[in-house]
Amino acid sequence: MVQKLETNGDYVNGHDEKSPGDKLNVLVVGAGIGGLLVAIGLRLDGHKVLILEQSPTFGEVGAGLRIPPNSFKILYRWGIDLTYMKKTYSNGNRFLRFDSGETLANMPHGIPEWDFGGCYLMVHRADYHAVLLQRAFDLGVEIRKSSRVDEYDFDAPAVTLQTGERVEGDVIIVADGVQSKARTLFQGHELPPIDTGDISYRILIPGQDVLADPELRDLLSQPWVTSWCGPDAHVIGYPIRGGEIYNVICCCSARSMRDQKFVGDETKLVISDNEELVRRFAGWEPRVRKIVSLAGKDFLKWRLFDLDLVDHWVHPSGKAALLGDAVHPMLPYMASGAAMACEDAAVLRKIFQTATKQNLPAALQRYQKIRQPRASVVQKAGRKLQDAYHLSDGKEQQDRDAWITKDDEKNPIFWGYKARREWLFGHDAENF
Ligand SMILES: Cc1cc2nc3c(=O)[nH]c(=O)nc-3n(C[C@H](O)[C@H](O)[C@H](O)COP(=O)(O)OP(=O)(O)OC[C@H]3O[C@@H](n4cnc5c(N)ncnc54)[C@H](O)[C@@H]3O)c2cc1C
Repeated sequence: MVQKLETNGDYVNGHDEKSPGDKLNVLVVGAGIGGLLVAIGLRLDGHKVLILEQSPTFGEVGAGLRIPPNSFKILYRWGIDLTYMKKTYSNGNRFLRFDSGETLANMPHGIPEWDFGGCYLMVHRADYHAVLLQRAFDLGVEIRKSSRVDEYDFDAPAVTLQTGERVEGDVIIVADGVQSKARTLFQGHELPPIDTGDISYRILIPGQDVLADPELRDLLSQPWVTSWCGPDAHVIGYPIRGGEIYNVICCCSARSMRDQKFVGDETKLVISDNEELVRRFAGWEPRVRKIVSLAGKDFLKWRLFDLDLVDHWVHPSGKAALLGDAVHPMLPYMASGAAMACEDAAVLRKIFQTATKQNLPAALQRYQKIRQPRASVVQKAGRKLQDAYHLSDGKEQQDRDAWITKDDEKNPIFWGYKARREWLFGHDAENF
């Protein structure tokens, strides 16, 4: 299917004349990728948008991110210009055996622009975040750092910052991330994210170190997302910034690690050396061993959390909604968390084009109705991949390897089945 890309991003108030909706005063909590995207989308239609971010600095962690076509097409339309950002176009996914490096399957993307209506990019998170931030500033979104929201008055609606300052609006969009404090207030009961039992190490290797080794060189020069699958772990690698950096994520079940554990509520650690990784992957094929030995110092180790489904995306007041990881935390194995936040933003933008202060509750319910089923499928699919990627050798692994090359719904890898690829990447969140 050929899809036409059209941009309407060059102006604010694009819907002024036609839109029967009110211009709303929107408070957004969190300046992550989700918060920035919804702010940009709403500002494009002339709403007044204020983002409150707790951190004293703006930015993202040092790691890679995949921008799939379902997200790219929204960015393009909204005039979020990635032209001058260093990036890499993905060939597709390939899966290798952990010990021999034998190829289990190649799943090329083909021409994503043609099939799905947008590019498939591999980027540095900080670069992407910086582009979003700039676009938000250019459009006139007001963004305040060091502004932690400590309390919500959803009926007003209003928030109170850690300074005691009260800020009022017409509607609150809460994009406060996987450990969202607000999620509980929406459900009426505690709903912490579930510890999936997996941890991930996020590593950036200078491209020149990868190029210097003849055995690793192809990993950089051929821009595939390579996944080595083995017992209780998988290692993903892909080039970003046009090959300046090789981005690596090692995902392991915590039970398979012998190193120091997270203490209490700790979710992230900076690891000062690569000893525990070298030990963990000692039995893997030479390229994996080389990659972890190149990991160097000071990289991130994260606990991974998710949920299957969050019941209430909209606060009972009808004046606030959750967005992004706050409402659909997921394992990163579908590489889709930020893309789902982008789709949330796209749906909200469209719904707000006809929303008035009076019909806001119904408008927000419509947002949940459209977004919740699709996000939940992706959340659950991440869990299925956790099983499929981490099999020990045996009957289940042999079945996986037999199905992995087939364009069939029994293919355990989500993208191995064309209909699922089309469902995920071909989706146009603004088309409803
Ligand atoms: C290893 C890994 C790899 C991934 N790879 C991909 C990928 O390739 N593609 C993809 O699409 N997704 C990927 N994801 C998922 C993606 O990173 C997330 O889905 C996305 O970043 C979530 O954005 P967010 O804005 O919802 O939340 P966050 O990025 O967590 O932003 C939340 C923001 O809210 C702020 N905040 C929190 N509480 C408050 C408060 N009380 N007051 C004010 N501010 C507050 C925080 O400081 C933060 O800035 C990956 C995730 C992981 C862990």
